[in-house]
Formats: sequence, C-alpha cells, structure tokens
Amino acid sequence: MARSVSRSRQITYEQDKLLDGIRRRQDRLLSLLRDLVELESPSHNKAAVNACVDRVERECARIGGRVRRHRRKEFGDLLEVRFGRTGRGAKPVMLLGHLDTVWEVGTLGNMPFRIANGRVWGPGTLDMKAGVAMALTALELLLETEALDRPALLLLVSDEEIGSPVSRPVTEKLASECKAVFVLEPAQGLAGAYKTARKGVGEYTLQVKGVAAHSGVDFERGHSAIVELARQVGVVQGFTDLSRGITVNVGTIEGGTRSNVIAAEARTTVDVRIAKSADAARVERKFRGLRVVDRGCVLTVEGGLNRPPMERTRGTVELFRRAATLAEAMGFGLEEASTGGGSDGNFTSALGIPTLDGMGAVGEGAHALHESVVLKELAPRTALLAAMLLKPEG
Ligand SMILES: [Zn+2]
Repeated sequence: MARSVSRSRQITYEQDKLLDGIRRRQDRLLSLLRDLVELESPSHNKAAVNACVDRVERECARIGGRVRRHRRKEFGDLLEVRFGRTGRGAKPVMLLGHLDTVWEVGTLGNMPFRIANGRVWGPGTLDMKAGVAMALTALELLLETEALDRPALLLLVSDEEIGSPVSRPVTEKLASECKAVFVLEPAQGLAGAYKTARKGVGEYTLQVKGVAAHSGVDFERGHSAIVELARQVGVVQGFTDLSRGITVNVGTIEGGTRSNVIAAEARTTVDVRIAKSADAARVERKFRGLRVVDRGCVLTVEGGLNRPPMERTRGTVELFRRAATLAEAMGFGLEEASTGGGSDGNFTSALGIPTLDGMGAVGEGAHALHESVVLKELAPRTALLAAMLLKPEG
C-alpha cells in the first residue's frame, strides 16, 4: 500500500513537471500552429502542401530530429523524422499525422487564423495542424530536458484526407518497426475522448449502361439505366446491418439527359463502413455479386474497401488505460470512444500494432466552418502526449 502511494506521488510529480514545461512553451506552440495554418495545404495542391512540409521539416531539424523526406510525384511529400537514441533493440513509438487539409487555398480569406473566445480558429486547426504542433512541442520538451528515454518516430503524410493512396505503404512499413502508434487526429467531441476503435471505410461506384430510346416513339426499345440503377440502390442499401456495425450509404446519384429520353447511363457512389475486419470479404462479395435485372443493361462495379477497421485490440486498450492513469495524475479524466470515421490509424492497427487515436487537439468542427481548438485543453493534452512518449514504468 505504502509503495503504491509513493509511486503515484512520483507519477504526479513527473506529470506536473511536464505540464509546467508545456505551459511555458504554449506561446511558441501557438505561433508554430499559426504558421502551419497560414500555409494552406489542400491534399490536391502539391506545391501548397510542400510549403507546409518545408516549414515542419525546418522545425523538426531545429529541435534535433533526423529528417528523411520521402518525395512523392502526385501529392505532397512525406516526412519521416527520428528522435532520441536508437540501438539496444528499443523499438520506437510512432507519432502519426498528416499535413494536408480539406480546405482550398484562399479559405483564410473568410476563415482566418485567430484566437478568440477560448478557441483557436482556422482551416486545419483541429484536423490536424494543432496535433502536429503539439507533437513537436512535446518532443522539444523531452529532448531539451533529456527526458526522452526511448526512440520516437514522427511520420507526417500529405494525402490522408483523400484516403492516403501514396503514403499507405510507407506508413505500414515504418509502423511495423514500431512498438505502438499514437495518432495525432483530434480527440472525440468536446469531452476529448481518445479513440480505440474506428470503422473500416470503403467506396464503390456502380455504373449502369442501358439503351436510349425516345420515350414516346420507341418506348419498348429502351432499357433505362436509371430504372436499373434504382433497383441496385435498393439492393445495396439492404447490405446495411446495424447490429454488426455495417452501414451502406448511397451518397450520390446521377443519370439520364432529358425527361423524354430513356436513360442510357446512370451511376452512383456508395460509402461503406464496417466495424469488423471479418466482414470485409463478405461485403466485397456482395458488391461483386450484384447482377442486373434488366438484361438489356450492363452493370459495372468498381472500388472496394480502402481502410480496414481499427478494432479494439488488447494492446490498444492497454495504451488507453495507461493514458487514462497519466491523465488522472494530471488532474483530468480521459474517456474512451469509437468512431465510424477512418484515419491512418486503421492501417497500423490492422497490422496488429497497438494504436491509440485521437491524441491531438480537443475541439469541434473538423471539415466545417467552425473548425476550432479549445485553448485550455492544449497544454494538458500536449503534456499527456509527452508522458505517453516516455517508457512505461516497470
Ligand atoms: Zn485528420
């Protein structure tokens, strides 16, 4: 009993030191965040994203990181940055984030970076430039105080908001040499829960080609792509199984040309979410098994799952429990949540690497006009991130 008391006192003392150190660095954290937000970085604008990557690369080098830049042809570059001593077989912990946003260049015009009403506002603040600034601040503190007792690997990609098409292989390769992955995505809701499970995400396109005809003169010769697609929509909507965590959303539909023409073409895009990886093959089979009712039409199905689910594994739960204990020592409660949204944590978790997500900022309005970060949560969350980077006791 006496031992456990003195141990928890020691933890509290360490957490206080970290929290103080981060508080002293908060202004610098905010000015770095401002730089990152003002370097607008939509996924599809390679030059813009790379300007933001440049800024982060300089910051990483300044605080003592060893930077390797993975150049990419289609999208912005990736930054792989190593901190702390390597060797002695110690596996690094990975900090995983992205520098791209969903906001076009020019958004700052009506959504400028600003600090007001206890929040930090601006495009990409919450998702996830604050998370990146928090990680760099945590690392800087641990390096300056020589507290970092195991290697850390920061990986920042530039294509996360469009499904990570080119960064995925790098993320998977680097994550597989790591002991754990901490994802810098925003925490869940204003309570700021960490995420221990995420659904897998897929997208399918259904395209129907029919036979056009004059609706008055040649009605019987036509084969309506719209009517056929409508049947298919009914079928795929039925793949939803809420009890298993499977949802299917027909998100867009288009087709036809005029009311007096039997439609020759129609297409739809469908979003699919699954909670269990065991359902991936089943859902895929169902989509591939779709067959036309009107034989005069041709149906083409494209797409598939692009992120496997992040399931609530034992390793991830252990990471969460440790985070909750550390948070308590710092004087705040930490909740656990799951979400239907995907992140790059889905890839690392599917490889069996304990992955804790939502370790970035607390706020609301990701991808929305009121995107903002809660200012008073910045220091404690950054201190918690720093504490999690240290080797667990015992
Ligand atoms: Zn994000």
